Amino acid sequence: MLDIRGLSKRFGYGKGEVTALHEVSFKIAEGEFFTLLGPSGCGKTTLLRLIAGFTGPSGGSLVLDGKDIAAMPPNKRPVNTVFQSYALFPHMTVGQNVAFALEAQGRPKSEIEPAVEKMLTLVQLLHLKNRKSSELSGGQQQRVALARALVARPRILLLDEPLSALDMKLRKDMQIELKRLQRETGLTFIFVTHDQEEALTMSDRIAVMSGGHVQQIATPRELYDRPANRFVAGFIGESNFLSANASGGVVQVGEGSIALADAKDGAQTLMIRPEHVVLSANAPDALQLQATVTQLVFFGTDTHVHLSLADGTKLVARVQNALHAGQTLSEGERITVSLPAKALRVVKDEE
Ligand code: ATP
Repeated sequence: MLDIRGLSKRFGYGKGEVTALHEVSFKIAEGEFFTLLGPSGCGKTTLLRLIAGFTGPSGGSLVLDGKDIAAMPPNKRPVNTVFQSYALFPHMTVGQNVAFALEAQGRPKSEIEPAVEKMLTLVQLLHLKNRKSSELSGGQQQRVALARALVARPRILLLDEPLSALDMKLRKDMQIELKRLQRETGLTFIFVTHDQEEALTMSDRIAVMSGGHVQQIATPRELYDRPANRFVAGFIGESNFLSANASGGVVQVGEGSIALADAKDGAQTLMIRPEHVVLSANAPDALQLQATVTQLVFFGTDTHVHLSLADGTKLVARVQNALHAGQTLSEGERITVSLPAKALRVVKDEE
């Protein structure tokens, strides 16, 4: 549906030139919940603004439904944007705010009324239809902003960190609500966030960005299980990294070694998630290493076990706190840890 081809954006001139986007290319399918995720300054807002038409590209093209829209003014594009600040009309009621776009399009009242009610029902605010928008809570205002953006049924809804002004509890509720809204309306959402958990819980697919490059595009599960490079592995979830040396498909780490099919000869970086580190010597097909327990941190559902290897490398293991299981490890203890081959990934450096 949306085909982004070699899109780039530079700001400034000469020495002051900044490349915010480096020839980014990917496609978004109709009905997808697609997220642009990355740290501050990675270019995600710039990409969203290019799609909205608030700024023009320095190169590349933007094809929507087979038509290049790169030169089309924002108000002519079939896209709508929801910002972090809700920008509602404070003197208008909730209903009037939602009706605004349809009225501006000159739709008949007989059509506007039911469309507004349907949308307010969807965001669970029908009972507040006649309330002034300035008399709503932050979460309610954000839902009105969503209803207002959705009512005109844009081809794509762009959402620029729309939940970041909400408190934690409300934010979690809204994540679930937003995902439900997207499913029920069947619209294509492009969502911008720097919060990896938010991206993982809501998205069909995520583009992980850093330094104006797309590092990986995949489903949340694929990103977590098979990060394309060290940046993605470190940004999505928690990761342990180990320096290794590979030769003929066998990887050497400290005193241990293991066969890993995808390891190329030479210096390599291995990655393993904390929940996959086994705190004993008895795991089949695993890299075994001697470690010292340096710290135990209790998190309620699980405990984080901080470990130090012989060469000083730090590892974290996460173990679930089973009911009635006594504390068996103690700080300072020397143990053998097992890193199962199927949980070890060879990771490249990022672009
Ligand atoms: P954040 O999460 O902080 O909003 P972001 O990932 O959205 O970050 P962008 O706003 O897209 O990042 O910015 C990408 C890069 O482009 C940054 O280095 C930024 O300083 C630069 N940049 C963005 N807008 C402009 C501008 N109008 N003029 C000059 N440089 C800009």
